[in-house]
Amino acid sequence: MQRFFTLTEAREKLVKKELSVTQLIEEAVTTINTTEKKLHAFNTLTLEQALEKAAKIDRQGTVKDIGPMGGIPIGYKDNFCTKGVRTTASSNILGNYIPIYNATVVDRYEKAGAISVGKLNCDAFAHGSSGENSDFGPTKNPWNLEYVPGGSSSGSGALVASGGAFLATGTDTGGSIRLPASFCGIVGLKPSYGRVSRYGIVAMTSSTDSIGCLTRSVKDAALALEVTAGKDIHDGTTVDKKVESYTSFCGKPVKGMTIGIPKEYFVKGIEKEVVDATEKAIEVYKSLGVKIKEVSLPHTEYATAVYYIVTPSEVSSNLARYDGVRYGYSDTEAPDMLSRYFNSRRDGFGAEAKRRIMIGTYALSSGYYDAYYKKAQQVRTLVCDDFKKAFQKVDLLLAPVSPTLPFKIGEKASDPLQMYLSDILTIAVNLAGVPGLAIPCGFAKGLPIGIQVIAPQFEEAKMFQAGYAYEQETKWHTMHPTLGENNGKK
Ligand code: GLN
Repeated sequence: MQRFFTLTEAREKLVKKELSVTQLIEEAVTTINTTEKKLHAFNTLTLEQALEKAAKIDRQGTVKDIGPMGGIPIGYKDNFCTKGVRTTASSNILGNYIPIYNATVVDRYEKAGAISVGKLNCDAFAHGSSGENSDFGPTKNPWNLEYVPGGSSSGSGALVASGGAFLATGTDTGGSIRLPASFCGIVGLKPSYGRVSRYGIVAMTSSTDSIGCLTRSVKDAALALEVTAGKDIHDGTTVDKKVESYTSFCGKPVKGMTIGIPKEYFVKGIEKEVVDATEKAIEVYKSLGVKIKEVSLPHTEYATAVYYIVTPSEVSSNLARYDGVRYGYSDTEAPDMLSRYFNSRRDGFGAEAKRRIMIGTYALSSGYYDAYYKKAQQVRTLVCDDFKKAFQKVDLLLAPVSPTLPFKIGEKASDPLQMYLSDILTIAVNLAGVPGLAIPCGFAKGLPIGIQVIAPQFEEAKMFQAGYAYEQETKWHTMHPTLGENNGKK
């Protein structure tokens, strides 16, 4: 079975020619053809093109010369623009949108030799925590098909966990990479804001959107960051900072490091199984010679409120471009111009996008701007300062990703407030622009649990070092779902 290799293992086999690219892609195609009926991870499949590209690489010779991702199957979340391939952001309004260019990250993966298997389902415009806000119907959790895989990068989580690809892209605006990684039992990387280009990705909250990936191991995520990070002239918020050899930090000892445990992250209502698994992870770090210290991030309790002002405000501005004229769905039967705008937006947007447009427009309206948006940004500064102060005392922070185990499809769908609370432990990281890495840390009731390692801005190397050290001591990342049969067995 090749499908449960890690990317790093698969690459070794390709380089040594123990496996051809065609064999690897054929296996991915076979897996996807069986799992997709159960999971609904994809909006668009590009399996034919993948097989053609594989054959071409095999004809050309050695994978090594092609690039660090040569021959590796990858899935793109459907809010990444892919030239000539439908990009919907899982929304009806972009249901037939075919971009004329690639997102910078897609270009970088393609240049490195990766082979796309298709575009992955997600919450529409990445608004959500469960995948249930997709206008095309939800993705299922491969560990238990009645449960959500986490969102908004729901297809990405389900695809990588079920063995259809070694790597899938994601966007994390408030937790959308770390949460599905945690709910699917895989690794999820949210880089620092400004580390990876946002160009060509359907914008959600421009001041917190972070572009990362979901993989089966920490080292795979480190490699993906090496390929994608760095300055991009098309995104003025990318920083001209050296891209480190992140993979070379995987294997360095962690003895002597100090890891802080933010006490506010053990919120009221957090499930016992999550606390137990986190405490076990802390013990693993102690056994590796890491000093553990309790720290305080006192403004954590305001993070969710701040986020749900900042996000709808920026969302309402970003979604203003969908006017039924420039892209996507348009009510061509409308009698006049204004009706065309109104009808296109009324019929094209789903309930969650509309909710955010209304809240955001209200928060930004004159007379309320100072009371809401400006105030929220001021409190956001306090949240950022919490992290800065904590990182004066510790190298990294460690916390659970989600206060609960994965929940059932439909369980929270009718209660947006309950759904918003799923991100209570991930949101502050986005507001502060720091990086976070979700790693599997156990199971309860047959469902995965994840922890996150959080680092100071642009110190991803240290985060991989600590994440890798933990992963080597545990077996969680080696467990794979069988989609309903024999879950948890290797
Ligand atoms: N669940 C959060 C929201 O709905 C975060 C989404 C994200 O990170 N894209 O806003």
